[in-house]
Amino acid sequence: MSLPAIPVNPLSNPKGTKSLCELCQQTATLQCPQCRVTFYCGDKHHALDWEGIHCKICPLLAPFRALSLSQPVGRTAQDRAAQERTDRLREIVELTLEEGRTLLFGGKHNLAVPAALQCLKFSKELYGTRGLDLVQPFLVLAEASIGLSRLGHAEEYLSQAKFSLIQPDKAKRTSQSELDLMKSKLNRIYGLLYLAQNQTHKARNAFANDIYLSSIANGTTHRLVAGGYFYLGNSFLKEGKSLVALPFHQLVIKIWIDFFVENITICQQDINAKEGISEKIEFGPSVQAESSETLKALLQHHSKRAYHFGDGALKQLLASLSMLYFLFRDSESAKKYAEDALQCDTMEYRDLDQILNSLANK
Ligand SMILES: [Zn+2]
Ligand SMILES: [Zn+2]
Repeated sequence: MSLPAIPVNPLSNPKGTKSLCELCQQTATLQCPQCRVTFYCGDKHHALDWEGIHCKICPLLAPFRALSLSQPVGRTAQDRAAQERTDRLREIVELTLEEGRTLLFGGKHNLAVPAALQCLKFSKELYGTRGLDLVQPFLVLAEASIGLSRLGHAEEYLSQAKFSLIQPDKAKRTSQSELDLMKSKLNRIYGLLYLAQNQTHKARNAFANDIYLSSIANGTTHRLVAGGYFYLGNSFLKEGKSLVALPFHQLVIKIWIDFFVENITICQQDINAKEGISEKIEFGPSVQAESSETLKALLQHHSKRAYHFGDGALKQLLASLSMLYFLFRDSESAKKYAEDALQCDTMEYRDLDQILNSLANK
């Protein structure tokens, strides 16, 4: 729970400046009592921002404010203070972006908005008001707006993301493959917008572009491509064309099972080597949220009989969920899904049995 917000003290602001609400840009009357650097139009927006992101970044903001106000003497001290400020800003930008994506995958669109707005604000402070670095927060805002059925807002954010993408990369921080991935994500979210507008044909074109662009760097079976196949399948399912949707969704399962088998092997090697679970595993909260939401949605299609996975694909799906929960230390759920996977009546994928038996504690 947040502490109650306190009234803005106009005397503590530089003369002539007006504080604006973090979420709606209306004149602010309240501010966060702890960091004192975020402002709100009222309790409602204070509470929403707190739940969405501020509880995570408030402790980072207070020292940041002190840094901004400090006036170090001497070149070295000034350079050090500037570097520290940049490092802190970068930390806040990364954290707010990861949090925004995680909330999106978890379907918490209203909470993803404050996270993305803060990411945008600090990205502008760090990198300037235009450029490639603003693409990601605009994309999170667009996707959240689609989830909230604010399609006009989504369109607006998407065109800002598109505009940011064509800015020259003066600082040369972005590699070609990062650029391709941003373009693939832009296409994916345009696809979601078109799907929400029932423009299925345009949506599929956008998803096809997404798949092409996300395949360039790492091939067609990398986890970064899974989302494109998933939504393309969904677009067919929406029209009741389950036989067309099925192969795309089977491909999604194949990608995730390969990803988990590889990571669980790394993880077990480390446990054997008594090193603890490796930092090598590229497994941020947003990857966790994406994989679990996707796999659970597919399992739901199967149990609602939108289509029927063969026993082999079902076994892979349940095994993926089991490994996913194991890697995130939920051993009860890992056990349950491993048992279900072992129940599948199939001779296929016997190579998974050893892992499944150990996850089911047999
Ligand atoms: Zn507001
Ligand atoms: Zn605060």
